[in-house]
Parts: sequence; C-alpha cells; structure tokens
Amino acid sequence: MFRIMKLCAIAVTLFLFALGALPAADARETTLDQIMTETGARLQWDPMREVGALWRGNTRISFRPGADSALVNASEQIAVRVSRGEDGGLSFDHDGAERIIARLRPQAAPEQRRVAAIFIDPGHGGRDPGTIGRHRIDGELFEIQEKQIVLDVSHRLARLLETAFPDRQVVMSRSDDRFLTLEQRTALANAIPLEHNETVLFVSIHANASLNSRARGVEVWYLTPEFRRRDLIDPSRVGVSDPGVLTILNTMREEEFTIESVLLARNILAGLYSEVGAHSPNRGIKQEAWYVVREARMPSVLVELGFVTNQEEALNLADDAYLQRLAHGIYNGIVNFVAGFEN
Ligand SMILES: [Zn+2]
Repeated sequence: MFRIMKLCAIAVTLFLFALGALPAADARETTLDQIMTETGARLQWDPMREVGALWRGNTRISFRPGADSALVNASEQIAVRVSRGEDGGLSFDHDGAERIIARLRPQAAPEQRRVAAIFIDPGHGGRDPGTIGRHRIDGELFEIQEKQIVLDVSHRLARLLETAFPDRQVVMSRSDDRFLTLEQRTALANAIPLEHNETVLFVSIHANASLNSRARGVEVWYLTPEFRRRDLIDPSRVGVSDPGVLTILNTMREEEFTIESVLLARNILAGLYSEVGAHSPNRGIKQEAWYVVREARMPSVLVELGFVTNQEEALNLADDAYLQRLAHGIYNGIVNFVAGFEN
C-alpha cells in the first residue's frame, strides 16, 4: 500500500518535472561521492529503509532521500536537502553539503597549552623590609630581613629556570632592592605578552614570621576562587557581550586557575620537601585571600621559605647553600608542573 503510494508520488513528481513545473536540479548540488572524497567519511546504506549514514571518527550523520534535515550523532539536526539524481545517485544541496562536510572534516589537533613565562616575585623591597628576625647568638645580635632572603632565592631560582627553559621568559618583579606596590607586581605579570594558548606562572616568594619563636617550616599558598577578580575574561577578546555568558566563562577560568594553582602549589611543596624537608617541616598547602596574587590572571602561588623568627631557621636562611636548596626545590616543583601542564 505504502509502496504503491510512493510510486504514485514519484510518478507525479516525474510528471510534473516533465511538464517543467519543478525547477531543474540545482547546478550547485554536491554528490555523495564528493562529500566522501572531501572528508574521508564512509558510507553505510540501508537499502530496505532507504536510510544512509556518513561516519568518520566519532561523528555519524544519518540522512534520508527526500528529508530536509540530517541527524548528527542521533541528536542534533542540520538542515540539508537530499535528493536522488536521474542516475540513482544521491546529491545534497550545496549549503547543506557544506554543513555536513564541516562536521565530518578531520578536526585540528587540540591546541597545545604552553607555559610561556615564569614570573618570579620577590616580596617587599626598598623601604619595605618585610619581616625581620632578630636573635642574640653567643652574645651577638643577629638580624635577618625578609626582603634580602627572598631576593637572593629569587635570583637563584631565575638562573636555574633560565638554564632549563631557554625558550621561555623568566621575569622578575624586582631584581634589586626596590619598593613595588602589589598592584605594580601583578600589572607587570599581566602585561607579559602571550599567545592565546599560553600562560604565565606567578610565583611570589616570601619569608614568614610568628610571635611563637618555635614556629618553623615552609608553606605554599594559593588563592581561593571567591577572592579572584570577576573580570578575568576580557569581553573584547572573546567577542561575547552577554554578561551571563561572560560570568560562566569567568567561572570556568577561575576554576581552571584554581586547579592549576593547587597543582603548582603541590609540586613546589614537594620540591621544597625533598630539598629541605629534613631541616624545615612541611606546613602544607594553604588557601587564603592572599593579596599578592589576587589580581594575577594566571596560576599563582605564594611560597613562604621559612620563619625568620625561629633562630635555627633564621640561621639557615642566612646560609647560601640552604638558599640554593630552597631555590632548587621551587625550581623542581615548577619543572614538574610545566611537564604536566603541557602534557
Ligand atoms: Zn612577605
């Protein structure tokens, strides 16, 4: 019954075509063969149901002669007219064929993420000495200032990184004893020119103090998302003006940065532990509203090298060999992080 109706329909169509009531086939039709050649897709054809499918990789597009849409992966419809030519071959309207080809064409490999720069931020400087440790040792006054320790370790770290990563930028917020505001530090890091698949790592270096003179050990801090700025994604760069979409994009970026900051913190802490763990207990990873890294649009951590207020640790922090081990520990952590990040 259906078959008879269908034959009737075809007969009517042929009749109308013969009368010139239907337009001749569009010259800009694309044949099935052309789509398959262009995309490398394969064809499945069910002659009983007159249903075909083009598939390549994980994409499968089902179509039926006479229908005005095709189905991508059994869920998404795309507009296309499929018709049978006089020779029985299938052809697709030009625009619909382009939509099919776009979906079947081999995708470019996902872009490789890259750490383009490491920004080292020695805390304090100039008129801001940071924390100061004063100890009386064998009757002599011994004083140590945070701004000096962190600058020393930062220089050592920069040299290690420059040797290991000649193709990456190693940038210091300050390379001498000068005062910089927190805004100036993050502005410097945010100004490093990047390709869209590149990132900077922000590593701020500090030393600790405590009223409890027994407090000691290294810590690495990262920033929780709620303290991050809300406009990480610049609307003019992504071409999105819908504030709702921007909020979602920003949340995604924040999450990404937080995960990466945690990973960077873990790697650096592990690196420090293997270098100085026998001397300085690992106080762990902390999350806080750290002012220094709040405005940085990148994976950001803050390393506390130890307590200047602990006499033994203060003596260590005045020792070149110990500072080199701290730098080496941070360096190893960064190298491991970069290897995982770019994997
Ligand atoms: Zn500090």
